[in-house]
Amino acid sequence: MFEKILIANRGEIALRVQRACREMGIKTVAVHSTADSEAMHVRLADEAVCIGPPPGRDSYLNKAAVISAAIITNAEAIHPGYGFLSENAGFADMVKDHGLTFIGPSAEHIRIMGDKVQAKITAKQAGIPVVPGSDGAVPDENAAVEIADGIGYPVLIKASAGGGGRGMKVAQTRDDVRESFKVASGEAKAAFGNGEVYMEKYLAHPRHIEIQVLGDQHGNVVHLGERDCSLQRKHQKIFEECPSPALNPKQRDEIGKVVTTALKKLGYYNAGTVEFLYENGKFFFIEMNTRLQVEHPITEMITGLDLVREQIRIAAGMELGFTQKDVEFQGCAMECRINAENPRTFAPSPGTITGYHAPGGRRVRVDSAMYAGSKIPPYYDSLISKLIVQGSTRNECIMRMRRALHEYVIDGIQTTIPLHQAVLDQQAIMDGAYDIHWLEDFVAQWVKDSPAKG
Ligand code: ADP
Repeated sequence: MFEKILIANRGEIALRVQRACREMGIKTVAVHSTADSEAMHVRLADEAVCIGPPPGRDSYLNKAAVISAAIITNAEAIHPGYGFLSENAGFADMVKDHGLTFIGPSAEHIRIMGDKVQAKITAKQAGIPVVPGSDGAVPDENAAVEIADGIGYPVLIKASAGGGGRGMKVAQTRDDVRESFKVASGEAKAAFGNGEVYMEKYLAHPRHIEIQVLGDQHGNVVHLGERDCSLQRKHQKIFEECPSPALNPKQRDEIGKVVTTALKKLGYYNAGTVEFLYENGKFFFIEMNTRLQVEHPITEMITGLDLVREQIRIAAGMELGFTQKDVEFQGCAMECRINAENPRTFAPSPGTITGYHAPGGRRVRVDSAMYAGSKIPPYYDSLISKLIVQGSTRNECIMRMRRALHEYVIDGIQTTIPLHQAVLDQQAIMDGAYDIHWLEDFVAQWVKDSPAKG
C-alpha cells in the first residue's frame, strides 16, 4: 500500500480524498494556488505545496507543477479527484512516466471515453445500447441535414470533446440543423479547441440514470447500482438520488449486468460511471466518466462502501474485496449540491463566509471544505458543499433533507439552499415523477412567482 498520496485538487473533493487516506493510515500532500493558501484542504494535509497563481490553468491544471510537487515530497501516487486533471489522459501518462501511480483507470481508457464519438462506438461494440444517431463525427452541414432526416426530428448536435453541457444544440427543423451545426461546432472549438460534432436523436422526456462501477486490475468488475441525476439546469446536475424512483430491482440487475459485462470485455479498472438516458423502459448510453463523480456519496450511503478507499486499493494492485453478490442496497439517499450562487439568477456569489453552521444528526453527511471565515475565490467552480442524507424510505429521506437544509447556516454569500428547499416541497419531487426538463420549467415558474426573495 502507498505511504503517501498527493491530492491534485481543491475544495470538498480534496478533503474527501484526504479523509479516506487518513483512515487508511496514508500520509497526504495537498497542492494549492496562492488563492487557496488558507483553505481547509491545505490546513488539514500532512504537507502542502503551492503550485501557482489563482487561475486553474496556472495551478491545478499545471501538470508539471503537480508532478514536481509529488516528486519533491516523495509521494508515490496522485489522486486527481474530479474536474481539473482527472480525465486528462496525457496527465495520466506523465504520472506513470515519472514512476508514480495515477489513482484512476488506464490512460488508454481515459482517452477513449474522453472522445465522445469514440466512446459511443466502443460502448456499442461492447454491447451497451446507445442513443440512435450519426455513426461517428459529422463532417459538414449538408451531411448533418441528411443524417437528421434519417434520425427524425428533433435532433441534438453534440461536441465530441464535450463536457459540462457545452457545445450542445437542439434542432427542430432542417434550417435549425444548419444553424445549430455552426453554433455547436464554434462553441466546441472555443471551449475545447476541437470543433468536431456528432448527432443524436433528441429524447423528449428522458431521465438521466447512471451506473457506478468498480473494477480491479485482475479482471473483476462490479456495479453499485444507479443514481438518478435528472434534476439538471443547463445540463448540469444539481440534485441526485438513489435508487432511481423509476427503476425496479429487475431493471437494475439487467442494466448492471450489461454494464459490467461490457467493462470486463474492455478490461476497465478503477471507478467509473456509465451514463444513460432512460425513456419508456429503455436505456441509451450517452457517455462514460472515467473518474470519481461529484455525486458518489449517495452510492456510499446505500452500499456502505468507501469509493475512494476502493480506488486507492485498486490502484495499489489489490483485488476487490467483495463480489456482486456482496453488494447490498440499504434504503435511499439524496444529495443537494450547494453552490455559491444567487438561487434565482445563478450568478456566482464569491466572497467570505462570515458565519457557518453545518447540519448534523442521524444519517446526515456534509462534504464541504468551508468554515466560518473561509474565502470563496471567484476563480473556480461554484460548488461549495454537498449535503447528503440517507433514509430507510424515500419519504424519510425527503423529510430528513428538508430538516437538514433548514439547519444549514451559511452567511456572507448567497447559496442555492433556497432553491433546494423550494424543489423539495413540490409534489412531482415527492412522487419521484420528474425528467431532465422538470427543473428548468420549475425554476422559470418559481422566479416568476417569487422574484424578490432568497
Ligand atoms: P456533457 O458531457 O456535456 O455533460 P452529456 O452527453 O453527459 O454531456 O449530456 C448531458 C445532459 O444533456 C444529459 O444528462 C441530458 O440532460 C442532456 N442530453 C444529452 N444527450 C441527450 C439526448 N440525446 N436527448 C436529450 N437530452 C440529452
